[in-house]
Amino acid sequence: MSRRKPNSSQLAIVNRNGGPDGQPIAKRRLDFGKRWSYAPALEANSYIKLRNRYQLFINGRFVSPKSGQYFDSINPATEEKLAEIGSANKGDVDLAVKAARRSYKNVWSKMPGRERGKYLFRIARLIQEKARELAVLETMDGGKTIKESRDIDLPLVAAHFFYYAGWADKLEYAFPGRKARPLGVAGQIIPWNFPLLMAAWKLAPALACGNTCVLKPAETTSITALHLAEIFQEAGLPDGVVNIVTGPGETGSALVNHPDIDKIAFTGSTEVGKRIASITVGTKKKLTLELGGKAANIIFEDAPIDQAVEGIIAGIYFNQGHVCCAGSRLFVQESVFLNVIRKLRDRISTLRVGDPLDKNTDIGAINSRSQLDKICELVDSGLKQGAQLVQSRARLPAKGYWYPPSFFTGVTASHRIAQEEIFGPVLSVMTFRTPEEAIAHANNTPYGLSAGVWTDKGSKIFKIVNQLRAGVVWANTYNKFDPASPFGGYKESGFGREGGRHGLLPYLTLG
Ligand code: NAD
Repeated sequence: MSRRKPNSSQLAIVNRNGGPDGQPIAKRRLDFGKRWSYAPALEANSYIKLRNRYQLFINGRFVSPKSGQYFDSINPATEEKLAEIGSANKGDVDLAVKAARRSYKNVWSKMPGRERGKYLFRIARLIQEKARELAVLETMDGGKTIKESRDIDLPLVAAHFFYYAGWADKLEYAFPGRKARPLGVAGQIIPWNFPLLMAAWKLAPALACGNTCVLKPAETTSITALHLAEIFQEAGLPDGVVNIVTGPGETGSALVNHPDIDKIAFTGSTEVGKRIASITVGTKKKLTLELGGKAANIIFEDAPIDQAVEGIIAGIYFNQGHVCCAGSRLFVQESVFLNVIRKLRDRISTLRVGDPLDKNTDIGAINSRSQLDKICELVDSGLKQGAQLVQSRARLPAKGYWYPPSFFTGVTASHRIAQEEIFGPVLSVMTFRTPEEAIAHANNTPYGLSAGVWTDKGSKIFKIVNQLRAGVVWANTYNKFDPASPFGGYKESGFGREGGRHGLLPYLTLG
């Protein structure tokens, strides 16, 4: 590590709400002294073999789309085109579903669980072998930092395949006294924030239970799913067991509407989730929805404050805030508010924003221009509604899509930034006096995906956790995942669970 020129100006506080004349009432820079930056430590990517064109993966082969159409996949950190991706239409989706049905009937549903498990173990090992390459691809295509794709995403992807490989021949023990049968063909639609991990969350339990799959990745992050398809080929997975159709929302819609699908598993926005629910209702299709969130992190005065601030930072700035369970609302007990704010301000000024392939980078690129626009629009609404924005003045690269780590104070429950999912590195900080008030505030949202509690008292943790309407509650930590642990929401965050033994249920009928 070599030391370079210090980066001096770190933060700005802005309140554009203005006085009676509409002019800013406070605009100043905070200088927290000189901070050293690191010399770049770039992850090598020269060995990565990107194809010019990525085709659809149907019946074990890469095939060109019937539409003949392709769309570009862009590196959000450079705005450079990485590759062209095939755009699947209704006819392609039909071919994929037919291939999945054939393979379900003739091969996969007849195969003993221990044999299915062997394929999954093989896939998990191949993912481990190629983890570095897949992590680099994930970073280039999605903009997340290499630290995260290498140390969090890829290990979890492999772990999910290992975990569900273990269940494949033990379904009778998972549900004692019941006869577990697969459903048939699963249509699985995933978002762009954890492309390979979401694919693993969907594919691994479905395959372990004996279903076959048609997977539809998000249009901005399709590349790694197609490299995963190569791993399926290398593992000798029978043709048609997994099919991958890339394309826009219409491709997903064709999958949802296909009459020969038995199960839809969707992860994405609440808006699209509601649309899918209205289509599948009254059909034979089983449905699970993993949707948006507006998680609350609650810091009590007796919490270890430094540890809590680190958890808050990880909770909201991890993956640029592109996390459904991001702790985007922070409730701080009044007596420690100033202390927490001071530490938060200090800490965000040290976060490094920039090239996601640099191992020192803390905050990578925003996934797409449209997502960046959404973040900016919501931040503007916060300023217009009178909240005060504290923002890192980290120097942002000239090209690409970036947003500096930021937080709002002076937020009220009625502000849009307190209610709507922001899906970016922007935190809304509010205060409370009593545990009852904290619970009421935290539950005051249409969502119910996750929450965090920070306190020294175990009894308080149990009291609070039992009253929070959130599918996952972390205590004195945040954003920790394990394949054995179920994940899913309440209210408008969806229904059904992924992960753990619970994650088998959406892919089975129990006799
Ligand atoms: P999105 O809903 O726009 O898209 C998700 C996927 O659905 C994409 O593959 C997209 O092409 C497809 N799609 C779009 N319209 C469709 C339609 N009409 N029919 C079928 N498929 C359609 O969401 P996004 O912007 O990609 O992802 C961000 C959202 O995902 C956030 O709201 C986030 O909270 C949520 N998310 C939730 C979880 C969870 O586990 N609860 C995990 C990750 C992301």
